[in-house]
Amino acid sequence: MGSMREQGTGAGMALDEVQIAKLRVRMLERSRLLEGEIASKLRESTEDLEVLGRVGDSADLAWIESESGLDLAEAQRDIEEWRGLRDALRRVDEHRYGVCVDCGDDVPLERLMSQPLALRCIDCQTRNEHLGAFTRLAG
Ligand SMILES: [Zn+2]
Repeated sequence: MGSMREQGTGAGMALDEVQIAKLRVRMLERSRLLEGEIASKLRESTEDLEVLGRVGDSADLAWIESESGLDLAEAQRDIEEWRGLRDALRRVDEHRYGVCVDCGDDVPLERLMSQPLALRCIDCQTRNEHLGAFTRLAG
């Protein structure tokens, strides 16, 4: 008894369900939009999207490009963003969204609002950029 303590106003850092749900909807809408754009750029078939979801890096895209004879350069930016969105949505489902992949800290909400695909907290992101990692998506 007497150990009940309401913590209605916490640090305010962690994402709450409502905010995650809002971001999730935004990302879903965006990914559908991109799917339409990518599909129209690829023209051939939307089945290619399944392939794109599995490919590991731009080397694979180059392979698809040469196989299909399509110019993916234009679509590549969309594809990269789309893949990032899919990844982020999966993290939402797995309750890992908003957690820095490097240090495990919470990624601040305001950062996620402006960059829903951010994988890292600001500290880790800065460190990564200094290492010269490929971080164009978060730019
Ligand atoms: Zn971090």
